[in-house]
Amino acid sequence: LFITFEGGDGSGKSTQAGLLAQWLTEQGRTVVRTREPGGSDVGVEIRNLVLHHRGHIDPRSEALLYAADRAHHIATVVRPALERGDVVIQDRYFDSSVAYQGAGRVLDAKEIRDLSLWATESLLPDVTVLLDLDENVARTRLEAADKPFDRLENEKAEFHSRVRAGFLALAKAEPKRFLVLDATQPIDELAQAIRSRVSHELS
Ligand code: C5P
Repeated sequence: LFITFEGGDGSGKSTQAGLLAQWLTEQGRTVVRTREPGGSDVGVEIRNLVLHHRGHIDPRSEALLYAADRAHHIATVVRPALERGDVVIQDRYFDSSVAYQGAGRVLDAKEIRDLSLWATESLLPDVTVLLDLDENVARTRLEAADKPFDRLENEKAEFHSRVRAGFLALAKAEPKRFLVLDATQPIDELAQAIRSRVSHELS
């Protein structure tokens, strides 16, 4: 089973991915918890490169770097885990590229999706949890936790609202794959909603 978590910075993806991984492990499942960008050895270097140059790298070059990270990560980490029968829980996947490089940087959404499908030989997640959150709430949350919003670049507000709208459009287009949750709900309630969806997939 391949589960991805999507949403803007500060939406609680890592917290919920961690809670789900813990719960599945307690159920006796073998879980691989990973992320993009940077979920493989090569990917760590690509992550550093792309985030270091964020905001002034050419958008197509940025999209290709994310796709390169993704190709290596899927080939060397995710597919082998899925072939072993493990559950893969991943922070961000190609929906992030469609939202950030597509909607955010205003590249063609279909081209970005096709690039990712080529990079991954069309590996689709079984479930994608979208933690939807207004960027101002996210900003306040991260600042309260002493973490900078959008760590390496303080993008303009319109960028983040385009990204959010991009994610919601993806969820609307594929309602069966997506579980859209209001990320302002309490952590436990979100975790419970995610567990019931995942239990359903596993049964
Ligand atoms: O989620 P994580 O903190 O690992 O993401 C690092 C940064 O990269 C975030 O600020 C996120 O907005 C950005 N990102 C991006 N395009 C992607 C994936 C992540 O701009 N496809």
